[in-house]
Amino acid sequence: MLDDTHRFLDLATERLGLDADVRKQVKQANAEHVFQIDLDNGKSFNAYRVQHNNSRGPYKGGIRYHQNVTLDEVRTLSTLMSLKTAAVGLPLGGGKGGIEVNPRELSTKELEELTRKYVRGLHQHIGPDQDVPAPDVNTNGTIIDWMVDEYEKLTGDTTRASFTGKTIANGGSLGRDAATGRGGVLSLTEWLTLEGNGEKPMRYAVQGFGNVGSFFATTIADMRPDWTLVAASDSQTAVYDAKGLDADKLQKFKEDGGRFKDFDGEKITNEELIALDVDVLVLAGLEDAVSDSNMKTVQAKYLVEMANSPVTFNAHEYLEDKNHVIIPDIIANAGGVIVSYLEWVQNRADEKWSKDKVNQRLAKYMKSATNDLYDYVAENHVGMKLAGFVLALKKLYDK
Ligand code: NAD
Repeated sequence: MLDDTHRFLDLATERLGLDADVRKQVKQANAEHVFQIDLDNGKSFNAYRVQHNNSRGPYKGGIRYHQNVTLDEVRTLSTLMSLKTAAVGLPLGGGKGGIEVNPRELSTKELEELTRKYVRGLHQHIGPDQDVPAPDVNTNGTIIDWMVDEYEKLTGDTTRASFTGKTIANGGSLGRDAATGRGGVLSLTEWLTLEGNGEKPMRYAVQGFGNVGSFFATTIADMRPDWTLVAASDSQTAVYDAKGLDADKLQKFKEDGGRFKDFDGEKITNEELIALDVDVLVLAGLEDAVSDSNMKTVQAKYLVEMANSPVTFNAHEYLEDKNHVIIPDIIANAGGVIVSYLEWVQNRADEKWSKDKVNQRLAKYMKSATNDLYDYVAENHVGMKLAGFVLALKKLYDK
């Protein structure tokens, strides 16, 4: 993932004619905090926070708990955050954090101790005007609430603006849970409208029906009931129905802890889902979902990068050459950080906005960023991912 991101960065910096120093700088983080967390019972974990760029505002980005977290992964994700916040025009920078841990192997007590010690290791480097972390894979509002509490104990800060993605009761924003999926829908439908295909009913499939994928589908069900969800997958199985699946029912099934292998109805594999004859393929699982090994099987005209880097560099080149449209991650999945930003604004002003107000602001950012992307691609005849990176770098380096 790091290599692919750097390849796009090289192309984008070259296109903008940025000098060698800037080219080097964009690949380097401003600061990297690497430390070890020791639990009272003797277990130890590697912990990271990479602060990539803060030229537009405080560092912003999630904290991931996963056994495969590495410093390189956190570096890449922090770079993508700087590009994302710039691409959608937020006054924020980019950062990312992670702990190399499988949280399912910890008790709740251990998880809380780990979380509080992560904040103890970092508290001097984060804060409402410095670096504002959020949840990511395997972290949630409860974990963030522990972080806020620990941060407050250590620093006395009571604004709760030091973290976003908090529970609603603890200063979180309405609309945050659905924001990433909703943002992806807004970007895709805006793109289709700009192309003149806004009225066309679409058949679509969602790879990775978790938080992001399921809210993408339930938002579509609400906004575009004429569209048909024909398949949805988790890491093991995809459910399929050519006549259409019920997004709300699938979301409820997953929220209750169900696995699609136990869902009533026809099943296909994830690879078969990628190759379906649909109009739109929504990639909301993990990185590298479409790569050399399966790019030639893709039939969908439109792909939406809801996960970070789900389409590899080579697959981008191949598919764009064949006129597929790929809405790039730094815009498609920016809805989460946009509503995180709105949460931070509400906390600082001591306000609580309605879900409608949050959704209206989200729509404004998503539409504006998608219009910029559309215009740049139309004027410059370049791939959409490259265009997204160029637009973000222009804002980062004021070009
Ligand atoms: P999640 O854990 O809720 O959901 C991920 C889903 O993908 C799960 O259903 C899982 O079973 C499935 N999955 C995992 N591996 C798969 C595979 N190989 N094939 C098919 N399905 C697979 O996570 P999420 O919060 O929905 O995030 C999904 C992706 O979106 C991640 O890459 C994350 O970094 C990115 N993202 C999330 C947000 C957010 O607000 N949650 C914001 C921006 C980007």
